[in-house]
Amino acid sequence: MGAPYLTVHRADLQRALAGAVEDSPSIGMLLGAAVEKATTGSDGVRLTTAEGEFAAGLLIAADGVRSDLRALLSPESRQTDRPHLGV
Ligand SMILES: Cc1cc2nc3c(=O)[nH]c(=O)nc-3n(C[C@H](O)[C@H](O)[C@H](O)COP(=O)(O)OP(=O)(O)OC[C@H]3O[C@@H](n4cnc5c(N)ncnc54)[C@H](O)[C@@H]3O)c2cc1C
Repeated sequence: MGAPYLTVHRADLQRALAGAVEDSPSIGMLLGAAVEKATTGSDGVRLTTAEGEFAAGLLIAADGVRSDLRALLSPESRQTDRPHLGV
């Protein structure tokens, strides 16, 4: 199509993203903490994990194609009986 493209190994991309997060004083990273509950309100979102409760202005529910968080926050977005998914 003539558009430029770049091939990046997944591990390299992960390393670059993790490095950018570590370099940002305004972003904290907590690994291995499953979100058990999420509620939204006028002041943002509150998350409950086994590690404790967290408040944030924004939640990106990137927990996979069968995202429990998306289902929790937006039940109508739950993937139904589609056997194939393409983007
Ligand atoms: C066998 C196989 C081979 C594939 N090969 C390729 C390939 O070669 N190239 C390619 O581009 N794609 C490939 N894919 C597809 C690719 O893996 C997915 O498209 C991609 O992983 C989707 O990324 P994601 O971040 O949306 O979700 P995921 O990779 O599923 O990540 C979701 C994350 O959320 C976490 N999580 C889940 N629930 C919670 C919770 N409650 N709280 C906190 N965290 C939670 C999970 O632990 C996981 O780390 C393959 C998939 C499979 C199954």
